[in-house]
Amino acid sequence: MSADLHDLGVADAARALTAGTVSSAELTQHLLTRVAADADLGAFLAVDADAALAQARAADTRRARGEAGPLTGVPVAHKDIFVTRGLASTAGSKMLAGYASPFDATVVQRLGDGAPGGTLGAGMVTLGKLNCDEFAMGSANENSAFGPAKNPWDRSRVPGGSSGGSAAAVAARLVPGATGTDTGGSIRQPASFTGITGIKPTYGVCSRYGMIAFASSLDQAGPLARSAEDCALMLSAMSGFDTRDATSAERPPQDFTAQMLTAREGATAARPLAGLRIGLPREFFPAALAADVDGAVRAALAELEKLGATLVDVSLPRTELSIPVYYIIAPAEASSNLSRFDGVKFGHRAAQYADLGDMYRRTRAEGFGPEVKRRIMIGTYVLSHGYYDAYYLQAQKLRRMIADDFQACFAQCDLIAGPVAPTVAWARGDQGDDPVKAYLADIFTLPASLAGLPGMSVPAGFGAHGLPVGLQLIGNYFQEGALLHAAHAFQQATDFHRRAPEAAR
Ligand code: GLN
Repeated sequence: MSADLHDLGVADAARALTAGTVSSAELTQHLLTRVAADADLGAFLAVDADAALAQARAADTRRARGEAGPLTGVPVAHKDIFVTRGLASTAGSKMLAGYASPFDATVVQRLGDGAPGGTLGAGMVTLGKLNCDEFAMGSANENSAFGPAKNPWDRSRVPGGSSGGSAAAVAARLVPGATGTDTGGSIRQPASFTGITGIKPTYGVCSRYGMIAFASSLDQAGPLARSAEDCALMLSAMSGFDTRDATSAERPPQDFTAQMLTAREGATAARPLAGLRIGLPREFFPAALAADVDGAVRAALAELEKLGATLVDVSLPRTELSIPVYYIIAPAEASSNLSRFDGVKFGHRAAQYADLGDMYRRTRAEGFGPEVKRRIMIGTYVLSHGYYDAYYLQAQKLRRMIADDFQACFAQCDLIAGPVAPTVAWARGDQGDDPVKAYLADIFTLPASLAGLPGMSVPAGFGAHGLPVGLQLIGNYFQEGALLHAAHAFQQATDFHRRAPEAAR
């Protein structure tokens, strides 16, 4: 059995643990061995094998006592943007190298042990922390201060970013599921590049407490896993109102698995999506879209039609503007959020300095990488007196219009679909010194982020060089259940989400 244990996704592992065909301790040990054997992938930044095995044994005891939830004992790993007690939390930055948080992020707590002295968590076993772009700024995991994570489908290529370590680890079968965060696409794009499933819920569904902040009005946590079923299980456990996050949505706990499985009115076994109207924004299919991505996405749409969905033509006229709007708002918020890294309160401090001002300057010059510095400078500029009205305020107005454009679409359709990214995963180093190239590749993920809408990447097929292509689904506010339902129906009819890269078979 042990040779196949890594093939178990989150839901499979939960079933195997419930059936008693494997223990959490066995599963955890098997995966820890794989993680240790594949340092080359660059997915993990920290692992504590003893702590993971102790958690696994505790989970086995909880199961034996009949106190387990569905996820108890299933291994998980966290993007290193979530703070964790006991494991260093770095945000992929030298600024926070070795930083020991005194508390767990809410998402970590809910998936793990729960609040100290409070409600019990889901009881997942934390294998370790996963590589990411520095402070989640990037699209390729090449901005990590600790080296790149690689794409398991082709190790000379990027896994996407910023949740690149999360995507690489799940795709390489090192862990069944992982957490990620998405500010402008960082769950959906790496999921697409590595052939796995990821969902960014509506802004406010998952607590941001204990998530190292990049752009607070955009940052949102979500799961990356093999399937919609896996994502539904994890999202149900990690989401929900949290008094410690002022932007957390005050809604009752959601059972996304039940929502995913609820049949649509008029659905039949052959046509589970009967009556579902899927909007295709024409701006999501520009002439510049790579032919292989276009082909895979259109084939997936044809499959959705076979399942009963109707495709309707819609428009998101400000799609292109989402790039300048995002790259003003996100750096503006980043420049403010990152001012806390001053060498006094957290992490790195320059060894030598003349006075306080010099200490700040040297600390920040040494601690931050080039992309983070670029964003701090852009952000400071667009917020400065004299430029605020010209840039920041204009961007905010356009952000509202982009959100309104989506509402006009949702008058004509239930879900929106399109590609996640304009190309398949590119080669490491391919973007050279031109950060704008990477910014432009965010075009299809930024609109939903700016509007705060839920978005998902579903494995849709393969493109050039046998690399995975993701289909993006976007729903209206709090329609995660509808996204998961459509993705699940698609995954019942296709096997793209079950394919593994050669080395992981
Ligand atoms: N690629 C985008 C950026 O660099 C999105 C990153 C994210 O979602 N964290 O900002």
